Amino acid sequence: MNRKKISLLSVVLLGSLICMQGCLGERSGVEGVFDLEYALTKKNIVPILVIGSGPAGLAAGLYGARARMGTLVIEGNKPGGLLMETSYVENWPGFKRILGREAIGNLKEQATSFGAQFLSDSVESVDFSSWPYEVKTEDGLTLSALSVIVATGAAPRTLGVPGEQDYWGRGVTTCAVCDAPFYKDQDVVVVGGGDSAVEEALQVAQYAKNVTILVRKDHMRASPSMQERIEPYDSIKVLYNVQVQRVRGNEHHVTGIALYNNKTQEVTDMPIDGIFLAIGHEPTSQVFADYLERDANGYLVMDGRTQQTSLPGVFAAGEVEDHRYRQAGVAAGQGICASLDAENFLREIGFNAIIAEQLDQFSVSHKRSQSFVRSITTLAEFEQVIAESEGPVIFDFYTDTCPSCLGMMPAFESVAEQYAEQATLIKIDADEAVGIIERLGIRKVPALLLFKDGQLVSRHNMAMNRAELIELVQSSLN
Ligand code: NDP
Repeated sequence: MNRKKISLLSVVLLGSLICMQGCLGERSGVEGVFDLEYALTKKNIVPILVIGSGPAGLAAGLYGARARMGTLVIEGNKPGGLLMETSYVENWPGFKRILGREAIGNLKEQATSFGAQFLSDSVESVDFSSWPYEVKTEDGLTLSALSVIVATGAAPRTLGVPGEQDYWGRGVTTCAVCDAPFYKDQDVVVVGGGDSAVEEALQVAQYAKNVTILVRKDHMRASPSMQERIEPYDSIKVLYNVQVQRVRGNEHHVTGIALYNNKTQEVTDMPIDGIFLAIGHEPTSQVFADYLERDANGYLVMDGRTQQTSLPGVFAAGEVEDHRYRQAGVAAGQGICASLDAENFLREIGFNAIIAEQLDQFSVSHKRSQSFVRSITTLAEFEQVIAESEGPVIFDFYTDTCPSCLGMMPAFESVAEQYAEQATLIKIDADEAVGIIERLGIRKVPALLLFKDGQLVSRHNMAMNRAELIELVQSSLN
């Protein structure tokens, strides 16, 4: 913070009779208290730090920024959240029908127009033991948050049956929007009986020959209007009272499943090429486990009809805390409430929009002037890279509709820049590069393939953060 800003700030602070040490101390479970003067001496100050960029996080960002409090949204590994993985949404208020990613795009644009800042990064750890709250990101930033809104959403649940992990990314996936095109004219199953299972089935049916929805009960949980959407499709079938017992495959990919019928107790083998899991989600709350109260299922516990967590100044919204409604519109509403709660908290400790304006807050300003990641499409280009590269080569397969692919792109760019002299990092749009994906048997994005001396060394069917990418490059240099 420069001198001019400090002196301006002091005037404002004195003039507004700020609530200093001890202000909210009684409610605080944190060491020390809400000493605003001390907090403002910190580096990388963020008045409202929103973690997560689904509907809850974006709506919180919109309200925080509109209140001119200074709001930063950490986008996370899946920018836009679960709505990016659905196709059309028919219950987003104000729109009869809108693409999930369009709804997210609109919200982000609106939040940005009020001055919300967005950081393409993810939270690695938090320290909420003292205030201001410290948040460390995977890219190595340390932020000092005056208030935090946790909107980290939920992550897809897995079955936990034998073979599921062995064939992860080689026939087993949780993202139809990302991976459905790899199952053209093939036979696939969708596991689950909720709205997501219907969504996934509709998505995959655009490509696959046959789609069988596997429901473990004798009825679906999906809403009647969603179930009606599958009726016109001859290629979509529903089997009830069945559970996947095992995933089978050859050395390359899934070839079938063992299916248990819980009514007849029979186990049958079902030959299939792919399994799309749509069996619900787990709240993404682990990183806060040491500081915030969670229920037995990992959901953050709220204080009454507020979005307040068990720690003053830390709020939550969306699927990380809501196990009852789990709707995008509700998540956005909760994000708004969380932002209003955060504003109130900040006002109570003496912070306001005038101080926010004078403050030398953390600001996102990393514009890369040049890309260190080359893009290729044809088999000839691929072969040329393999033949000519001296060091290790990492290929990142992505598509424009895959949120986790897009989420890891900034980290991929940054690692490419850091290792420009030692390694070659290349991105390949899987929708375009048909020859390459056939040659390498890509069935899931993101997929990262490491080559050295012309040979495939390892294959990783998942998104990686910056630290994991660095580890991968380092391992190839040793
Ligand atoms: P849900 O929790 O609603 O449904 C999960 C489904 O998976 C249930 O049928 C459940 O079975 C089944 N299941 C859970 N574990 C297993 C298992 N181990 N083996 C087999 N089946 C299993 O989750 P969704 O992701 O479908 O939906 C979450 C929320 O998002 C809902 O509120 C939904 O309405 C909303 N949503 C809305 C959409 C829209 O309106 N366009 C689209 C997608 C989601 P059981 O019923 O037996 O418990």
